[in-house]
Amino acid sequence: SSTLVWLRDDLRLDDNPALSEAASLGQPLIVVYVLDEDSPGVRPLGGATKWWLHHSLTDLAAALEAAGSRLLLRRGPATDIIRDLALETGASTVLWNRRYGGPERRVDAGVKDWAAEHGLKAASFQANLMFEPWTVRTGAGGPYKVFTPFWRACLDGSEPRLPLDAPERLPAPSTDAGGRPPAGDALDSWRLLPRRPDWSGGLATTWQPGEAGAWQRLADFLDGPAEDYGTGRDVPGVEGTSRLSPHLRFGEISPFRIWHALRERFPHSAPADVGIFRSELGWREFCWQLLYENPQLATRNYRPEFDRFAWQAPSNAELAAWQQGRTGYPLVDAGMRQLWQTGWMHNRVRMAAASFLVKNLLADWRLGEAWFWDTLVDADAASNPANWQWVAGSGADASPYFRIFNPVTQSRKFDAGARYLREYLPELSGLDDKAIHEPWKAGGLAAGYPEPIVGLPESRARALETYQRLKDG
Ligand code: FAD
Repeated sequence: SSTLVWLRDDLRLDDNPALSEAASLGQPLIVVYVLDEDSPGVRPLGGATKWWLHHSLTDLAAALEAAGSRLLLRRGPATDIIRDLALETGASTVLWNRRYGGPERRVDAGVKDWAAEHGLKAASFQANLMFEPWTVRTGAGGPYKVFTPFWRACLDGSEPRLPLDAPERLPAPSTDAGGRPPAGDALDSWRLLPRRPDWSGGLATTWQPGEAGAWQRLADFLDGPAEDYGTGRDVPGVEGTSRLSPHLRFGEISPFRIWHALRERFPHSAPADVGIFRSELGWREFCWQLLYENPQLATRNYRPEFDRFAWQAPSNAELAAWQQGRTGYPLVDAGMRQLWQTGWMHNRVRMAAASFLVKNLLADWRLGEAWFWDTLVDADAASNPANWQWVAGSGADASPYFRIFNPVTQSRKFDAGARYLREYLPELSGLDDKAIHEPWKAGGLAAGYPEPIVGLPESRARALETYQRLKDG
């Protein structure tokens, strides 16, 4: 008999409880990744995450081989694939690390039921969240709806467990009577990489998908921005944040590992900035808790009163201007171009760009969420809709709708020296630090930069009136 480990959003050997358990069993081991675009409700990956997945799986396959194992790739509805594979390899045990989205949980429960009916052992582990949603409850037993008490409740209990080291050797794969391991797909046959046009050049120069890249980001962060995170994180023109998000998204590094690495690096009195960074990890956990409680977070307003909100469908030209970074507002445009070029956008700019879409253009947040889903390398089933709903005012613990980011004020405040604007808007690089935030006043149009697609005062007033109508019922 053999053990089957099914990897999903946990593409790592380090702190991987399912894999460590399999190593300790010592039986022949099959490690499988399933590309599942067929199970009901499972959201297909966007373009940027497909690119990431391709490279992450390449890295993972090499790491598994170096440890004496092998990565098997199969495609299709996961329940069928895992069942067939278990039968084919005579597996006695199926192991995985838990997922928290609704459709994914249904798939996993189906596999568990099937295993129980057929006398196989199926076990799941906690690996990707430090605080699993059902363990963090209010006094009344329900989920938290506000971040601060949620995070306080998380930190009230014991410290997150210590991470497990990667197994040095893994058991060899099980083979058939002819000595062959089970057959799988070639990664290239999944066609995860863009072809014509190939837009991935900027992603490739920005990122190193896989475990080694994740550890490098963590080391760079601890040696650099961590100590000043509280202030540095708001400045898009410097590397003030960790850029760990896509690595966390694919589980190339464990949040437990990050948590304890911070502990070790700042053993005595951790600076306040470390606490702020930890609470950002807490927001990730909070978003997953929201998704766990509201599996339709990406399509339904968390606050149902927003079902009556009078979103205006943007014209194709307006939507394209936003997507392509041609709104005429430099901070928004720099952000949208950073997103297109690198698959990532600074958090402060995400907030400004999202606010511009849902407030100044009055577009339904789902349009923005879908664009981010397709273009972000960290696009995440929980954090993306939760943050969009946060900006739109329809979410949990949301920014109130009447808080409308002014892209010019934000730009002056957080990119005063215009480093960020100049990096992504080369056509404006000739304008001085003052003028560059309002290029329509200062020769920016002559340099080929677009005129603002909406006026700020009018569009702000329109948004506030629309919100007032919602409140008045
Ligand atoms: P750091 O500042 O170094 O933070 C460390 C980690 O904490 C991040 O890697 C991330 O895992 C977590 N984190 C930080 N801020 C948040 C937050 N607001 N919500 C949830 N987790 C957070 N984050 C995603 O991971 N995936 C998304 O799809 C996503 N979509 C977003 C959409 C909008 C409209 C907005 C405003 C924010 C979105 N975020 C998303 C949150 C945030 O912008 C990114 O997590 C952050 O910019 C990632 O960069 P970093 O790793 O350098 O973050």
